[in-house]
Amino acid sequence: MNILVINAGSSSLKYQLLNPETGALLAKGLCERIGIDGKFTYKAEGKKTLDAVDVAMPTHSEAIQAVLDALADKENGVIASMSEIGAVGHRVVHGGERFAASVLITDEVMTAIEECNPLAPLHNPANIIGIKACQALMPGTPMVAVFDTAFHQTMPARAYMYALPYEYYENDKVRRYGFHGTSHKYVAARAADMLGKKPEEVKLISCHLGNGSSVTAVDGGRSVDTSMGFTPLAGVPMGTRSGDLDAGILQYLMNKHHLNIDEMLNILNKKSGVQGVSGVSSDFRDLEAAGKSGNPRASLSVEMFNYGVKKLIGAYAAAMGGVDAIIFTAGVGENSASQRMEIASGLEFMGVKMDAEANNVRGRETVISAPDSKVKVLLIPTNEELMIAMDTAAIVKG
Ligand code: AMP
Repeated sequence: MNILVINAGSSSLKYQLLNPETGALLAKGLCERIGIDGKFTYKAEGKKTLDAVDVAMPTHSEAIQAVLDALADKENGVIASMSEIGAVGHRVVHGGERFAASVLITDEVMTAIEECNPLAPLHNPANIIGIKACQALMPGTPMVAVFDTAFHQTMPARAYMYALPYEYYENDKVRRYGFHGTSHKYVAARAADMLGKKPEEVKLISCHLGNGSSVTAVDGGRSVDTSMGFTPLAGVPMGTRSGDLDAGILQYLMNKHHLNIDEMLNILNKKSGVQGVSGVSSDFRDLEAAGKSGNPRASLSVEMFNYGVKKLIGAYAAAMGGVDAIIFTAGVGENSASQRMEIASGLEFMGVKMDAEANNVRGRETVISAPDSKVKVLLIPTNEELMIAMDTAAIVKG
């Protein structure tokens, strides 16, 4: 069964057509500038690539129609007709406390997803627009929602509660939700496989290190703690996000520089992290290059990031009472041998011994710890779209 995976943003939409049984990627692409003019990108092996060609996209509806037309195109398509799309899997950012797993979309589910909008006001409404556009164009095709937060719903209260007055949790739903759940779930399942164990048998620390980064403790296949919080602003410093900080800083800076809360949050989300500290870039490749050419702030920003991840590894090993494997994934985790080395070195006291040669690799599933390392260190490329397609197929097949 082929699954169309849709990740709808407010003015863009990513798509992939996958076969989750074989893992084959049939086609993928991107619709950009929806509501402005419309640019369409399409890639499929052995077919003509369309690279940001003009296609009018006043709404998400035209964007999805362009996707369906391209997939079923006589010359350049990968399916004979729409009937070859068994189901659609939609990435939805926030499922609140309501969704602890992926779910078949019904009217009732749509209402519940809409009720989560206040928790992710920039993302969920766009995800919902994408779902509705698909429903209108593909009546009769089952749709499944896959939530970024769902995997973390297994966290115990001691991990997800903030030490605020309890009514803010009860009445306002303020708690740690965690994000990147689809990625952590995917790499954790792959890690168990690589270790030749069942997911229930292993304690893992999954480091999803990219432009946005989060670290998750996975005990017996369940997320038991994660570094992102009520929003994806929390945890380690990121490309442009501050990560955790003392809330007292907000009052101090807002008063001193006459900032309102929106301006302050804009700084924390868009002008902080390694970009803010380095003043160079949010891209870790640029920072590595700038550091090598002697820019101390670029080096400091990467050191702060690596140190933040290392501390969480220690914290989560303590939280779980041990760890069998540490996973590196996403842009930085999959590509930067030097950052993996820096993060995982100095952890010999807890049984982590890296292998410099094995670590000199990028973008493929492999063990990068020494053969005698008690704790295995794994490089596992993430594949959120495949995870979404697998969940979708499983739900549709019942
Ligand atoms: P993601 O958000 O997962 O797409 O990851 C994006 C981040 O991965 C960017 O900061 C990139 O600089 C980083 N990245 C990609 N390739 C490399 C590399 N070879 N070395 C260091 N960082 C990389």
